[in-house]
Amino acid sequence: MKQFAIKRLYSYFETTSQEAKDNIFDEKIATFDEELRVLLEKYDFRYICDDTRFITAQQMSVQKCEQCNHLMVNRDKNPMRFNKEDLWIDLDTDYNFIIWDGGSYEGKELCMDCLPIGHRWGYSS
Ligand SMILES: [Zn+2]
Repeated sequence: MKQFAIKRLYSYFETTSQEAKDNIFDEKIATFDEELRVLLEKYDFRYICDDTRFITAQQMSVQKCEQCNHLMVNRDKNPMRFNKEDLWIDLDTDYNFIIWDGGSYEGKELCMDCLPIGHRWGYSS
């Protein structure tokens, strides 16, 4: 029986609001996209689509966990997570496993996996 295997790929890079405003990495993204398409074809994948969203780190309390470097949203500072209308995508549904929950603990910003179990935003709490 025929099947279609759909593969999703997530990645990110760090930039600044000014760099985003000035589009200084447009060429870098275009070159990457073209190389990715060539690589996909090499392995008989058919390219369908991609998109790039910019998340204002400070405004949305998104950062890397100070212990493991995983992307996280500090729910102590942003309990509502993301505003779907602002980003045109539902980060809470589509990216929930990319940007984990996290919180503040003993002066550190930690993801849900690194927070103690008893913490409000800890993984097992
Ligand atoms: Zn962590």
